[in-house]
Amino acid sequence: MAAKKVLVTGAGGFIGHHLVKRLKKEGYWVRGVDLKYPEYEPSAADEFEILDLRRWDNCLQATRGIEEMYGLAADMGGMGFISKFHAQILHNNILINTHSLEAARINGIRRYLFSSSACIYPEFKQTDVHSPALKEEDAYPAQPQDAYGWEKLVTERLCMHYREQFGIETHVVRFHNMFGPLGKWEGGREKAPAALSRKVAVAKLKGEKSIEIWGDGEQTRTFCYVDDCVEGVRRLMDSDFHGPVNLGQDRLVSINELTDMIMKIAGVKLEKKHVPGALGVRGRNSDNTLVRKMLGWEPKVTLEEGLARTYTWIEGLVKARLAEGKPIDS
Ligand code: NAD
Repeated sequence: MAAKKVLVTGAGGFIGHHLVKRLKKEGYWVRGVDLKYPEYEPSAADEFEILDLRRWDNCLQATRGIEEMYGLAADMGGMGFISKFHAQILHNNILINTHSLEAARINGIRRYLFSSSACIYPEFKQTDVHSPALKEEDAYPAQPQDAYGWEKLVTERLCMHYREQFGIETHVVRFHNMFGPLGKWEGGREKAPAALSRKVAVAKLKGEKSIEIWGDGEQTRTFCYVDDCVEGVRRLMDSDFHGPVNLGQDRLVSINELTDMIMKIAGVKLEKKHVPGALGVRGRNSDNTLVRKMLGWEPKVTLEEGLARTYTWIEGLVKARLAEGKPIDS
């Protein structure tokens, strides 16, 4: 029997690249699409096309001959990025997702998975470091903090309506801070685990005594390792459950605690200098009742283990960069 043909958009990015590897291991025929190739190792995809999915013609090209599609392409980044470039993010992501979904319909794609985000949850439910874990129904009444979250919420609804009106099997997953090796670690779009790993590695290798932390560091989040993310995504795509569903760790840690864990892995003790920076909501946790019930999913990789793998990868890159004498973000 011929292998099932799947499309991963955003396949040059962090989660998309890991997902392509997993799909290939499972025997799928995979087309990857992105504005760029993966930065740190070649893609495992059978076919990789450089396309701009804001463009309708490019979306039609990307979706030809495909049975199942994972929509991961987005103009996104960490808090520093998504709290700043609202117009760009809203404009680009609306075009990417609206054109992708319609092209998928026109080309007869049967199953479509959309990567939404914990950023869709209302700001007013996340004002305390110990805010209650967010259940899926907490999304409404809606008040996401940033344009990034508003677009994700509207596209969730677009997926629901396409399923109702056109019968395309859409699945919606809400990621809560995924991390791991082969993700962005510098340049302004990286997220907290990668940014902190880089800062600790730079300070360690340069013999510096302190690193900068945005805000008081008491803001809380959960962090989920990328292998667990990919496992959840695969389970959702193969299920008859449409979501939206949370996918993330439910172990809450503060940014200060996360930093201490990374320093322990690195074998250094550095002073944390608290400086102004983009913070996002005060506290956010994932209620995993629904994902456990519907997909039998639990995160398997502990935060310590995931951070150790991530830190080791980033320290290697920092070491290589310093040896070349090239500049590096501190
Ligand atoms: P990423 O930035 O590493 O990957 C996204 C990819 O989309 C990038 O490679 C980018 O080049 C590509 N892209 C952007 N604009 C494009 C365009 N016009 N045409 C084609 N490709 C384009 O991000 P990621 O962490 O891998 O996230 C994947 C998806 O999951 C995104 O939709 C993101 O919003 C969502 N998400 C991620 C997290 C997380 O913690 N990583 C959390 C919530 C939601």
